Amino acid sequence: MKGIIDNTLREGEQLPGVAFTCKEKLDILELLDRSGIAIADITMFGVHEREMDFVEEASRIKKRIQLGISVRAIEKEIEGCFKLPVDELFIIFPVSPIHIRKKLNLTEEKLLERLKNILASFSKEKKKLNIVAEDASRADTDFMKKFTEISIELKAPTILFCDTVSVLYPRKTYELVKSWLDMCAGNIETGVHFHNDFGLSTANTLIAIEMGVDYPSVTISGIGERGGNASLEEIVLGMENLLGIDPGVDKKILQLIADKTERYSGIIISPNKPITGLFPYTHESGIHVDGIMKDASTYEPINPEDVGRKRQLVIGKHSGIKGMLNILKNTDVNTVDLDLNGFLSKLILKLVDTRRKKINRLINAYHGEWGRRLNLWKAVLEEISKRTGK
Ligand SMILES: [Zn+2]
Repeated sequence: MKGIIDNTLREGEQLPGVAFTCKEKLDILELLDRSGIAIADITMFGVHEREMDFVEEASRIKKRIQLGISVRAIEKEIEGCFKLPVDELFIIFPVSPIHIRKKLNLTEEKLLERLKNILASFSKEKKKLNIVAEDASRADTDFMKKFTEISIELKAPTILFCDTVSVLYPRKTYELVKSWLDMCAGNIETGVHFHNDFGLSTANTLIAIEMGVDYPSVTISGIGERGGNASLEEIVLGMENLLGIDPGVDKKILQLIADKTERYSGIIISPNKPITGLFPYTHESGIHVDGIMKDASTYEPINPEDVGRKRQLVIGKHSGIKGMLNILKNTDVNTVDLDLNGFLSKLILKLVDTRRKKINRLINAYHGEWGRRLNLWKAVLEEISKRTGK
């Protein structure tokens, strides 16, 4: 593995209703840079003229991180990217029959010709050209072979294999990525970009990393189109804890990055989200608390301090008398005269009652706000037509 590509500022922002300000994007970029992420895909070419101010600023503040921009495989647009202060281009070539024929209305031969022309025309440019094989997991094998061979022949530095609509699962990832890596044969750098429609993007990406892919792609908290992408924090911890591969990323900063992105995107980190959620280091059930107090590794695969978090032991419905006593013994509460059963019954009633009132209100408000946000365009349209009288 040579480095992680983060797509949050491009793909994460493509989520409906998410629109970062320039300052918010710079904040996230600065943290990604500090964390040790190798490359940030910061925007899509031509998305909005205001985005260009951000690109300029980004090039001014960045230190180690390489800045990339995504662009369609259209010569004019690629030329436009060369005028921007970025280090790399992610040139998107749809490679599956449905994308080539239905979306682009092209033939396979024409697409290969386009790849040849683009690589021949721009090979002398100083910026790194990453060839992105969109929907590669649904591509025809012979076509993918030709596509990869041309990329190698015309000296593209990197090619990325995308699972655009999540058709991969672990065994299929192993087979397809292995056969594709054989086509690459070490003659070109490789990367993957996997989607999460079935909750498998982290697993699939880890398999690809284990097989030797150079550049895995991620987004913070996994935010991205539809069900999102492999999440930065899960890939970093998975690499280190499961694969024994150094991700080259500072784990202690991951929570801060996730928290900022939560505020800026409005996408709440689910409480049970691995690594950065509320619950991975919070324990309630009596059996778990008992184990944790004897040796934390009985029930904790990740040491909270490694990721800048603290362990929390709480009393609730599943504590049991022993669990309660275990927790209370570390406090100055005198448990001798305490009616433990009465205390637990009262607490359970309160827990149910609080959820019904407060948490339900918050959930309704959150969903209501997103409903309004996704329909904001209608309100703006109305405002404009009122003003113009049309
Ligand atoms: Zn994507």
